[in-house]
Amino acid sequence: MKIYYSYYSHLHQRNNSKRMTKITVAKGDGVGPEIMDATLSILQAAGAQLEIDEIEIGEKVYLSGNTTGISPDAWDKIRTNKIFLKAPITTPQGGGYKSLNVSTRKFLGLYANVRPCKSYHPFVKTKHPVVDMVIVRENEEDLYAGIEHQQTDEVVQCLKLISRPGCEKIIRYAFEYAKQYNRKKVTCFTKDNIMKQTDGLFHQVFDEIAAEYPEIENEHWIVDIGAAKVADTPEHFEVVVMPNLYGDVISDIAAQITGSVGLAGSSNIGEECAMFEAIHGSAPDIAGKNIANPSALMHGSLMMLNHIGQSLVAEKIHNAWLTTIEQGIHTADIYDEKTSKQKVGTKEFAAAVIANLGNKPSSFEPIQYGNRAALKLPTYQKKAPSLKELQGVDLFAHWNGTNPNEIAEKLKGIETKNTKLVMITNRGIKVWPNGFKETFCTDHWRCRFQPATGDTFSKEEIIQLLQNAENQGLDIVKTENLYAFDGKRVYSLGQGQ
Ligand code: NAD
Repeated sequence: MKIYYSYYSHLHQRNNSKRMTKITVAKGDGVGPEIMDATLSILQAAGAQLEIDEIEIGEKVYLSGNTTGISPDAWDKIRTNKIFLKAPITTPQGGGYKSLNVSTRKFLGLYANVRPCKSYHPFVKTKHPVVDMVIVRENEEDLYAGIEHQQTDEVVQCLKLISRPGCEKIIRYAFEYAKQYNRKKVTCFTKDNIMKQTDGLFHQVFDEIAAEYPEIENEHWIVDIGAAKVADTPEHFEVVVMPNLYGDVISDIAAQITGSVGLAGSSNIGEECAMFEAIHGSAPDIAGKNIANPSALMHGSLMMLNHIGQSLVAEKIHNAWLTTIEQGIHTADIYDEKTSKQKVGTKEFAAAVIANLGNKPSSFEPIQYGNRAALKLPTYQKKAPSLKELQGVDLFAHWNGTNPNEIAEKLKGIETKNTKLVMITNRGIKVWPNGFKETFCTDHWRCRFQPATGDTFSKEEIIQLLQNAENQGLDIVKTENLYAFDGKRVYSLGQGQ
């Protein structure tokens, strides 16, 4: 017996091994308790040195009136133990409930979401017999900052935030992961042909960091064709790093094409804490029926064992699991009359894996992890500040008219002695001067003011412009300052400008 529950104090006292790692465990909702029990039984039988500190999170906590789905006490345990094995949870439908998955990742600074996706052909039916890729998804930034506002009757906005530390951390993690797992290539996906500042920064940092790893091949794809290639020719990829939203979408595609969402686990890695889970949700449609596949959570737990330095146990379980899959002992989600031999339930599948502990697969390559302990990355070093120069301002106006020339006339009326209106765009398209009459205009107008002569522009000008707009009854809903950093313009031009 190597797994101890800290609330069973007699067991806790009997076993005081120095190698024991205390982890927080949440059994979650839906199929969560079944797949967690199956996973823990395998870990225990394989000799994992774990002390379990169980917490309650998810639906019950939400429905008790706590809209965060987690109590302060449970947070304390997660932060103290630092290693968190989590089953899926259900977020109740309807407004007001925060996604605990998103808040856990952000509060704990779990910047790297690592999702290995692999095919088990010919034992698990898949259209893609050769898939062995690892998606490394940035986990904290991008549109998932969740900063959204309605600004006019017709327009809402979501702020896409990409930071240099965020890019450096996730991209370095991807290269270090490739090094540790003997992967030969790291691919980056962005949409920097369109988002030249945000995705442009991600791509630029990728190029900078890739240069530090000459032994690893690197490549960049525009995300749309990259995603198509993942769905069509996944064997092309090894480690793929990308910003949050693309990673969310593409990692589900990558998991699904291997045969079932019930197979892939994931880790969420931070500088202090780490969380391990299945990639799938709580599957309420099959909950309580002993039919869920526990493999995804089990794979998450193997990533955990590697992270805490128990790679030998991870290796033993992984080989027993591959043997079980080869034997055709399959849960319903991957059962196929032609390729499977025996359809089993959650508990029976776990028992079959346990019975195979010590066995090595004969068709699949046996797993040899070696040392796969947590990656130690250098802490981010702040760069010297750049020379920052204000070059103008964009005022965003809420105006219900449709003729750009009319709003241009009003805006000319608010120019100051040192500023002039240079451009108006609507949803990014230049509509003044010289716009197309065919362009559809909403009630949300970006109005760019720059120095009337020379380059100098001060914040006083912005205050004056806003005061003039207010005096003229123009509804300004937000402003964005236009900067050059070290002489380089770092704001977008209007499309067509
Ligand atoms: P889901 O992943 O729970 O289910 C999608 C489909 O896959 C269902 O048909 C389900 O039966 C099947 N499936 C999932 N896991 C399986 C397994 N282990 N074995 C066999 N079949 C499996 O996605 P959903 O239905 O969109 O979401 C259900 C709930 O889970 C929602 O409340 C959602 O918010 C939550 N969710 C939680 C997490 C998490 O906790 N990390 C992630 C995604 C969704």
